[in-house]
This record gives sequence, C-alpha cells and structure tokens, in this order.
Amino acid sequence: VGLPAALEVSGVSHFYGEKRALADVSFSVAPGRFAVLLGLNGAGKTTLFSLISNLYDTPHGTIRIFGHDVSREPGEALRRLGIVFQARTLDLDLSVDQNLSYHASLHGIGRAEALSRIKSLLAQTGMIDRLHDKARSLSGGQMRRIEIARALLHRPPLLLLDEPTVGLDIQSRAEILATIRELVRTEGISVFWATHLIDEVEDSDHVVILDKGRVLTDGRVDEVVRGCGAANISGAFA
Ligand code: ATP
Repeated sequence: VGLPAALEVSGVSHFYGEKRALADVSFSVAPGRFAVLLGLNGAGKTTLFSLISNLYDTPHGTIRIFGHDVSREPGEALRRLGIVFQARTLDLDLSVDQNLSYHASLHGIGRAEALSRIKSLLAQTGMIDRLHDKARSLSGGQMRRIEIARALLHRPPLLLLDEPTVGLDIQSRAEILATIRELVRTEGISVFWATHLIDEVEDSDHVVILDKGRVLTDGRVDEVVRGCGAANISGAFA
C-alpha cells in the first residue's frame, strides 16, 4: 500500500437543479506534483473546487485529501488544504500583516510563530517590504501573492488555486507562476491549479482537462502534449 494521493477525486458528479455541471469525474494528484486543471469557462472547474473545499454536500462520489474524505472528516481534510479562491478575498482596509495574522489566529498559530511564518512567506513571495501597507495599496498581482502566502500559513501540504492569474498582465502572471514553482520546490507542497489558459500548463507535471463537466484527458504534461499536440488540445475546446 503506497502513500495516499494528495488529492483523489472518484466518481464525482454535481447537479445544479436539472443541470449537470460535473459527470463522473475521477483522477488523482500524487504528492509533490504541480497539477493543472484546464478547461474553458463553464467546464466545471469552480464547481469542482467548491466540492474539494467542502462548500457543497457531496452525495455523488468521493474526494480525499491525503487520504481524508472531505465530507466525512472535514477537519482532517481541510487542515491539509490551502485555497486561493477566484474572487479577491483580502480585507482592503487592513494591513497585509493584519490580513495574514487573522488567518493565523483562526488556525491557532500563536503571534510569535505567526509573525516569523508571515515574514518568511512574504520573503518567498517577494512581498516582505509591504508587511505594514494597507491591502488597498497593492496591485492585483501583489494581492494575489498575499493570498498565496495566506493560504500557506498553516503549512497545508496541498494548495488549490482557482484561476489565480485572471485579470493580471503577462508579467504578473509569469511572476505568480514562478512564485508557485519555487514554493513547490522549497515547501514540498502539491499544487492543484485551475486555468483556462493553455500556456499555464507548460511548466506543470500533470494536467487534467475538463470539458463540459467530463474529464477529457488526465496525464503527464509531456505525454499529453506529445500525444495530441498543444494545438489539438486547444482544438478540443473549439
Ligand atoms: P468559470 O471559469 O467561468 O468559473 P468553471 O469551469 O469554473 O467556469 P463552473 O463555474 O463550475 O465552471 O460552472 C460549470 C457549469 O455549471 C456551467 O454551465 C455553469 O453555468 C453551471 N453553474 C455554475 N454554478 C451554478 C449555479 N449556482 N447554479 C446553476 N448553474 C451553475
């Protein structure tokens, strides 16, 4: 018996009334991998993220984070998860330090440990000089980096990001990607990143392509790209 997957999704379906948003979705992400969930708008990415975050009941299928079922053992599962939602979630009237400290206190991290962890994460995300600035004074890309630092404060081994580069310019997008790659390397975390941008797949280890609520492809990026060609992956969405 091997180590449990960082994320295991088995037979997951989801309906909004009559509308089926996910149809029997199954895949798993190995520990330490940078995995990308690729799909057009409406493919079901946010629905899947909501299920992984235990925002909805999961009567159809099972989701496990490092072996812990999110609906049966939500405490164990969610403690291992850091999440960056699609919507901006910083309190603009609080400083960067206050935004992060609040999250640390929710996770029961004492002030001294929280401050040292906050400083180290802000150094890693290139934001240490903004510690005392109001969140309102930051650019969109800088806010994203603060949200990534916040998601990692309680040392979750799995980081989930829902289209974190939407609305950012090319340079900020590249910086966010580089930051995440560096965190995967230094913190040894697993990443599950949703995007509709095919160029964000290039540097990942594993890609799951979702189309109209179904898994179209699931595999290593080099195999997927070699197997059908990047043009055909985009073609699948045409
Ligand atoms: P986006 O990038 O636009 O967020 P997505 O891949 O995240 O797209 P979802 O938001 O999960 O896709 O939506 C999947 C499908 O479910 C879409 O057809 C969407 O219209 C539908 N849907 C999503 N949320 C609801 C809801 N609350 N009620 C009804 N239908 C919904």
